[in-house]
Amino acid sequence: MSAQECLFCRIAGRSLPAEVVGEAEGLLAIKDRNPQAPTHLLIIPTEHIPTLADATDGHTALLGRAVQFANRLARQHQLVPSGYRLVINCGAGAGQSVWHLHFHLLGGRLLRWPPG
Ligand code: 5GP
Ligand code: ZN
Repeated sequence: MSAQECLFCRIAGRSLPAEVVGEAEGLLAIKDRNPQAPTHLLIIPTEHIPTLADATDGHTALLGRAVQFANRLARQHQLVPSGYRLVINCGAGAGQSVWHLHFHLLGGRLLRWPPG
């Protein structure tokens, strides 16, 4: 899939509008357009990686930065110490619907376990 066709490549390239809440090296954070919790952000690498299963050892630093970026965003959105969840849906069977790797950051309500 080309960057022209990929929704999150277009958002990361700023050719499609989104509510941007933060940026870090190689990463963008936006509000999910269909929030599942009072805070529901998406952390998107600017590089097109279809799923977590496509990430390589070369992406280790990027993935680490994404987790620490999520940590900072969670604090900025007052989700510490109440709690938050960081989720990657990998593959159709896990509910992935946009084929560009992204982390969901959810918080602001009681999150039950296990997810459906
Ligand atoms: P997935 O199901 O792939 O793990 O998550 C995709 C997420 O992207 C969903 O939570 C969905 O609401 C969100 N989403 C899909 N299209 C758009 C869009 O155009 N803009 C924004 N901000 N979020 C989107
Ligand atoms: Zn993409």
